[in-house]
Amino acid sequence: MTGDIADVVVVGLGPAGSCAAATAATHGARVIAIEARREAGAPVQCAEFIPALLDQEIPFLSAVTVQPITRMRSFVEGEAPDVTDNFPGRMIARVAFDRQLARRAAAAGVTCRYGVRLRAVNAEGELHLSDGSALRARVIIGADGPRSCIGAASGRVNRALVETRQITVPLRARHDATDIFLRAAYPGGYAWLFPKGPRAHLGLGVAAAARARLKASLADMHRELVVSGRVGAAVLGLTGGAIPVGGRLAAVAPIGKVPALLAGDAAGLTNPVTGAGIAAAVQSGLRAGHAAAAWLDGNTRALDHYEDDLAELFDAALTRALARRAALLAFAAAHGPPNAAALRRGWIGYPQYWVDTAPPELRRMEMTA
Ligand SMILES: Cc1cc2nc3c(=O)[nH]c(=O)nc-3n(C[C@H](O)[C@H](O)[C@H](O)COP(=O)(O)OP(=O)(O)OC[C@H]3O[C@@H](n4cnc5c(N)ncnc54)[C@H](O)[C@@H]3O)c2cc1C
Repeated sequence: MTGDIADVVVVGLGPAGSCAAATAATHGARVIAIEARREAGAPVQCAEFIPALLDQEIPFLSAVTVQPITRMRSFVEGEAPDVTDNFPGRMIARVAFDRQLARRAAAAGVTCRYGVRLRAVNAEGELHLSDGSALRARVIIGADGPRSCIGAASGRVNRALVETRQITVPLRARHDATDIFLRAAYPGGYAWLFPKGPRAHLGLGVAAAARARLKASLADMHRELVVSGRVGAAVLGLTGGAIPVGGRLAAVAPIGKVPALLAGDAAGLTNPVTGAGIAAAVQSGLRAGHAAAAWLDGNTRALDHYEDDLAELFDAALTRALARRAALLAFAAAHGPPNAAALRRGWIGYPQYWVDTAPPELRRMEMTA
């Protein structure tokens, strides 16, 4: 079967795909993007927090901001919170954010096809779609999330995943911080309460192997917060999804003779400790689109530069997060449920997370504390 031929086919119109498609089209490529959902961004599978650093990349952020965030509070087990001041960011309306990015792609000339799922990619790089049609491209960009088909077709799979469950609840008093709950009962993850005006997202992520306890643990946390008067008992929304936590995959690999770039969650760019991935999706998407267009224009090094750019941008943070996550899981395997010191060392809100090595005597004390 042969179908439409494009310079670039982008799979997925989340933040990574929309940014990649818009950038490639702006640089002159003929781009087709396919998205399984009927509209970009809906239904939301996100806690909707973005860090201030995205302010430079996205000009319309004010229009999709629900409220500012100034601080992070980290609760270790039942202890009083430790406050990280100067933790600026925004709670956004993710549907509006994703929709606006997808509109920018369409305005740049991208042909966006919604409600169409990539079903299979053959060995020649031909894409077979759920509506029975097929597409061919000179470059493919896989921006199709944590369980990427494009990644799988080229041997790049996010093997380590955190599974999440999130409810939206009434928030009793306005709040300006993201609240993080670190507990031994949440292996490989944490719970969060992120304020969104009069509501809040209350969520929990755990290593995929512990997913059976998600529902009960989140219900327990909800009850606790209702009893303490912070949130209401009503459940106004429910979502969830997988978060890749195994680190960066190779950004470029061929499918047949067609180069296939990965961006965003598909490329494993989500932070393995925090689960944050929106900023990385935008940053990698912009670069993937640029690299694809440059390669089509004859810059034979452009795809190598994409790989190098991602390494330079993300590897330091990803390497540290992977090491901290592995240390916490190793602690649990060797000593049982992590103690407060181990939980603190595994979370970005604590200086221990950022030191390169703990002195051996401190390490011994923590192990036995
Ligand atoms: C519960 C939860 C809470 C989170 N909270 C935050 C947060 O507060 N802040 C943060 O920074 N990050 C958060 N994240 C992570 C963040 O949502 C992702 O990192 C981000 O969405 C990645 O963007 P993306 O464009 O790579 O992928 P996605 O946003 O996943 O977009 C991929 C798109 O590809 C489409 N697609 C998939 N397969 C196919 C196919 N075969 N054919 C066609 N289309 C396909 C999907 O429908 C989707 O629209 C959270 C994740 C979860 C699950």
